[in-house]
Amino acid sequence: MTPTVREIQGAVARGERRAVDVCHDALSRIDASNGTLNAFITVTHEHAMARAKAIDAHPHRDQLPLAGVPVAIKDNICTRGLRTTAASKMLEQFVAPYDATVVRALEAAGAVIVGKTNLDEFAMGSSTENSAFGSAKNPWDPARIPGGTSGGSAIAVAAGMVPLALGSDTGGSIRQPASMCGVVGLKPTYGRVSRYGLIAHASSLDQIGPMTRTVEDAAIALNVIAGNDPADATSAHEPVTDMTARLSSMAPDRLRIGIPRSLLEQGIDPEVARAFNTALDTYQALGATIVDIALPHAGAAIPVYYLVSTAEASSNLARYDGVRYGFRAANEHREQDDLQTMYSRTRARGFGSEVKRRIMLGTYVLSAGYYDAYYLKAQRVRTLIRRDYEQALQQVDVIAMPTSPTPAFRLGEKVSDPLQMYLGDIFTVSANLTGLPAISIPCGFTADHLPIGVQLTGRLFDEATIMSAAHLYERQTSWWTRVPNL
Ligand code: GLN
Repeated sequence: MTPTVREIQGAVARGERRAVDVCHDALSRIDASNGTLNAFITVTHEHAMARAKAIDAHPHRDQLPLAGVPVAIKDNICTRGLRTTAASKMLEQFVAPYDATVVRALEAAGAVIVGKTNLDEFAMGSSTENSAFGSAKNPWDPARIPGGTSGGSAIAVAAGMVPLALGSDTGGSIRQPASMCGVVGLKPTYGRVSRYGLIAHASSLDQIGPMTRTVEDAAIALNVIAGNDPADATSAHEPVTDMTARLSSMAPDRLRIGIPRSLLEQGIDPEVARAFNTALDTYQALGATIVDIALPHAGAAIPVYYLVSTAEASSNLARYDGVRYGFRAANEHREQDDLQTMYSRTRARGFGSEVKRRIMLGTYVLSAGYYDAYYLKAQRVRTLIRRDYEQALQQVDVIAMPTSPTPAFRLGEKVSDPLQMYLGDIFTVSANLTGLPAISIPCGFTADHLPIGVQLTGRLFDEATIMSAAHLYERQTSWWTRVPNL
C-alpha cells in the first residue's frame, strides 16, 4: 500500500526519505496507469521534481505540515504558469497568471504539485464523462465511471498515485467520486476554504476540499487550506482550530446520529442500502445512538439545486466570450461578422453539450417572466431545507446517509439521460444548499468489488465533529485499506 500524507510528511521531516524519491514514485505510478485511467489532464514532471528538490534543501522542512507530499489539483483550480482547463475546449490553452489561494497554501506547507486532474467540463456532471479531454475511468473497474465531477482527483488517490488531491464540490463533486472510488472526500463548510482561484460553477454552492485515503489525512490537509482570505469576500472569519487535535477524542457513547428515514425509503441500490445499514450497526455497537429525524423538504433538493446552480452558472459562464478568456472560434466560412456572431460561434464550439444545457436552463429560470416562478421559489425552498437541517442538528451531532444511491455505473450508461444523472445527486446537494460540512468515507463493497460510501453531515463550521465521527468508524473497519488491482 502506498504511504499516507501523515507517513510521507513524517518520513521527509525526519530525513528518512527524500522528497525527490517520493515525488519520483508518485510520477512513476501516474505514468504507469494514467493511460488507462485518464485521471490527469496535465502532469508536471520537471516542475514537480524541482519543487521536491527544493523541499529536500529546505532548512526547516521538519516544520512543514506537508513536507514532500505529492498532491494533485483538480483542473478547475488555478495554478500559475501551469495550464488550467476546467476540462473545457474553451480553456484548453488557458494559463492562469496567479495561483489559487489553496495552491499557495499547499506549496507554502511543503506540498509538491504533480499535476492537474480530469473533471466534468466546468464541474458540471456526476461521472467525469463530460470532459473535453475524454472520460476518466474507475480504478476498481475501468469499464465504469469514477464518479464526478472530481473524478480525476478521486482516481489519483484511489490508485495510489498521490495521497492527497484537491477537489471542488458544488453539489457532491468531492463526496460522490470519493464514494465511488473508495476514498475519503470532505466538503468543508461554505466559506471555510477560500474560493479565490477556483473557476466558478455556482458561487453560492462551490467549495474546495481534500480527497485522501484516511480521515486524518483530510484533517491535515484542511488545516493547511482553511481560513479567511481577503481575496474571497465569502470566506469566513471563523477561527480555524487544529482539525487533527480532536480526531480521537470522540466519545462514541455520546454520539447521536440522525437518519432521515423517509428520504431513504426508495431509489437506493440494495447493496448500498445493506452497506449503509451495516455501518449504522457498527456505530451502534460502538455505543452511538441512532435517532430517526425528519427532513421534510429535502426531497425537493434536486429541483432546487438544479434551478439555483444553473442560474448561477449561466451568469458565471457569460465571461467566456472569446474576448477575455481562452478560445475564440475562427471565422472559416466568412460569416458576416459582428460581435454577436463571434460570441455565438465561439460559445457554440467552445462549450460541450452539458454546459450548454445548463446555460440554457439557467438563462430561462432567470428570465423576466419566469424568475418568480422558478428562481425565487427555489431560493425559498432552499431556506426551508436549511431550516430542516438546522432543526435536525439540534437533536443530533451528525446526519448519516449513503453518499450516492448507487455504486459506480458503466461508462455511457447515463450520458443520454441527464435527468437520471441529476437524480443521483439526491443525498449530496443539500450540504451545498445549506452550506453545511459533509464527509464521505468508505463503508463497504458490492459483490462486484465496487466501493460504497457513507456520508456524514454536521453543523456549520463543525468539521471536527463529522471528522472525528468518521475517524471512529474508520479505525473500527478496514475498508479504507483496500486498494484496487491495477
Ligand atoms: N452533479 C452535480 C452537478 O452536476 C454536482 C457537480 C459539482 O459538485 N461540481 O451540478
